[in-house]
Amino acid sequence: MNDALQKPVAVIGAGIGGLTAAHFLRRNGVPVMILEGGKQVAGMASSYVDDRGFHYDFGAHFITNRLAAAVGIGGQCRDVPYYGETFLVKGRQYSYPLGLLATPRYVVGALKAKIGGRQGEPRTAADWFRQEFGRTLADEVSLPILEAWSGAPADQLSAAVAQKLQNSIGRTIYLRFCSRLRRRAISIGYSQEMPEGPNVWHVYPEHGVSQVCERLLADLRDVVELESPVQQIIVENDRAVAIRAAGREREVSAVVSTVPAPILPKLVTGTDALEPLRQFRFRPMTFVCLRFEKRGILSDTVLWTAAAGFPFFRLTETPLSMPWLAPEGKTLITCDIGCQVGDEMWTMDDAALGDKCVDALESLYPGVRQHYSGCRVLRTPIAYPVYHLDYEEARQRFAAGTGVDNLYSIGRNGEFAHILMEDVYWRTIRKMNELLRKLRGAPPTPATAPRFTSAASGQLASV
Ligand SMILES: Cc1cc2nc3c(=O)[nH]c(=O)nc-3n(C[C@H](O)[C@H](O)[C@H](O)COP(=O)(O)OP(=O)(O)OC[C@H]3O[C@@H](n4cnc5c(N)ncnc54)[C@H](O)[C@@H]3O)c2cc1C
Repeated sequence: MNDALQKPVAVIGAGIGGLTAAHFLRRNGVPVMILEGGKQVAGMASSYVDDRGFHYDFGAHFITNRLAAAVGIGGQCRDVPYYGETFLVKGRQYSYPLGLLATPRYVVGALKAKIGGRQGEPRTAADWFRQEFGRTLADEVSLPILEAWSGAPADQLSAAVAQKLQNSIGRTIYLRFCSRLRRRAISIGYSQEMPEGPNVWHVYPEHGVSQVCERLLADLRDVVELESPVQQIIVENDRAVAIRAAGREREVSAVVSTVPAPILPKLVTGTDALEPLRQFRFRPMTFVCLRFEKRGILSDTVLWTAAAGFPFFRLTETPLSMPWLAPEGKTLITCDIGCQVGDEMWTMDDAALGDKCVDALESLYPGVRQHYSGCRVLRTPIAYPVYHLDYEEARQRFAAGTGVDNLYSIGRNGEFAHILMEDVYWRTIRKMNELLRKLRGAPPTPATAPRFTSAASGQLASV
């Protein structure tokens, strides 16, 4: 065995990123160890069922049939028949995209912006949205959502936050039409790594979204160490050579980390290459999952309420898309509240938070309070990476690599990228392909995503 392949690769974190990395490396003959700080795997893709039969994710989660097939749980997922979003603006609800398109002031604004042409490459998110959608739609709809979601003014955010909005309006309408025709929620704006089309739709695993990670774990149980937070990543001569966990140092051939990017420099010793990452910030979120004894409260799965002055900026009634997530005739509405660690919304008692959200809902849907039957509150300090202009250059440099040989930072928070589970999966495989070639002493290839042969069979053509 080649020298580099004798020592294991240390994978830090057992969310979908870490498990995908370890699974891929192991299948290709590389020894791995997975060190997970928590008591269980799945990280942000954890799911829970309470004793009344309500299912909860960390914010509502949808995956695609393509991801499910790739990890081997395609047969254990249910198709999501419908998904829709609506915007609440100045007391009126507009469905997406047709309701917005039927509003003359938005269409006129968008046309004016198009006719006016581009005034150079937009630097801020505010400029990007105004150039792309017109001032009226941007100021009334898009920017209030962006600001509630990120906790920063849109003119202080990089235009890169809009990267995920690649679909043209024509393509969105076409995919929506296919969705109706096929009675499946075709995925729109979910993946940037792989093409979207009528054959890629949303599904949900029978036992919750964590089933994706449990499937990967099934082949890795003997190498996962739970409750083993990594305390140090040791770099010598600009190369990751060892890690320290539970007070023990272990030599490694490489380190693959899913630790949130701003925490990484606190763990790395022997280089200051990662110091700029300390400035990166996440937007913390509180998710208040309200239970109701009645279903069909919202008119669509998601209602964006950012401009309406409520404590939450988004409501999601998941059982409208996935009826099995609540007992028959009952429902669950998740309220997304952007906050800061330690502020009122972060520290408020769960029952009081539930009441506050129901009060706001009551003004939208009079009488809803009589159906309310309690809530469950989930909080995370690392929900969304904030692309603040203060550190945009450092973020772009980091997107190209850690700058330390054999240290890879992967996954949503590890990459500090707005990516969902499927893109975490493909991007991780691409990076691990790179690492594998390196460990085998092969020359690097131009980065290519693995070719996917069929959504139904989920075969990876090149791994
Ligand atoms: C509100 C919200 C809604 C979302 N909705 C969707 C959706 O509908 N569909 C979708 O596909 N995705 C969705 N996502 C994104 C999805 O949850 C993430 O992309 C994915 O779960 C990230 O996986 P990861 O492995 O990169 O990170 P994580 O799941 O965060 O895993 C990282 C792991 O590393 C561990 N760790 C951290 N530090 C250490 C250390 N020092 N030592 C050891 N272990 C450590 C953590 O305990 C954790 O288990 C959503 C995310 C949010 C916030």
